[in-house]
Amino acid sequence: MRLILLGPPGAGKGTQASVIVKEYNIPHISTGDIFRDNIKRDTELGKRAKEYMDKGLLVPDELVVSIVKDRIAEDDCRDGFLLDGFPRTINQGEALDAELEQMSLELDKVVNIDVGVEILIQRAIGRRVCRDCGATYHVEFSPPRTDGICDICNGELFQRDDDKVETVKRRIEVYNEQTEPLIDYYTKKGLVLNVDGTKPIDEIFEKISKSLMG
Ligand code: ADP
Ligand code: ADP
Ligand code: ZN
Repeated sequence: MRLILLGPPGAGKGTQASVIVKEYNIPHISTGDIFRDNIKRDTELGKRAKEYMDKGLLVPDELVVSIVKDRIAEDDCRDGFLLDGFPRTINQGEALDAELEQMSLELDKVVNIDVGVEILIQRAIGRRVCRDCGATYHVEFSPPRTDGICDICNGELFQRDDDKVETVKRRIEVYNEQTEPLIDYYTKKGLVLNVDGTKPIDEIFEKISKSLMG
């Protein structure tokens, strides 16, 4: 199963990704997570990516595309993968298509999670992430059992640097300008499943998994 999760920042891509990859036993490839991991380890890539991420801008295509190309060529991606947060520009989408064609592979589905701007802002600013295992919570909508502590691994929860209201607004604008055109791009290829991202987490997952079975 080769899947893409599309949707604005805060739509719930990461949340759905973590259940989908368990169900289908495929790797979860989040370009945002890859960048944050590089920032944490203070790599050259991390330093370059951080300049853009802190401003709410996209990291340049040439930095992102090669990472994803390498990642999907790895052994654990043989039976499929889930891309979360990639592609984010038409250029990235075309680069992915070219790479898949070369590998004689095809995408199965592009899941587009739709959420309006007011809710997106609430979701992003209330988001908390586990420092150790990356699990995602929300202070109101999906709180951990104990304040500030991960249910799964007892790790410390933190707020992402780019989840401040001004940066979130910028990221949503960037999404509308640069990423939203991909919905059309994949709709023309007959690949898009649109889901209402304002529904509860498990309802959304049910809708996605039904469509993937069918
Ligand atoms: P969200 O899902 O909340 O938008 P992500 O974790 O997917 O956040 O991405 C965080 C940031 O990482 C983005 O705002 C952007 O700066 C950078 N980034 C992630 N994926 C890409 C990509 N495919 N192309 C360019 N920049 C990216
Ligand atoms: P994305 O990866 O698209 O940026 P996340 O999966 O990180 O989005 O979700 C953003 C925030 O919204 C998180 O705090 C998450 O717990 C919360 N969230 C995700 N899905 C839902 C939902 N269906 N209803 C309410 N809150 C949600
Ligand atoms: Zn954890």
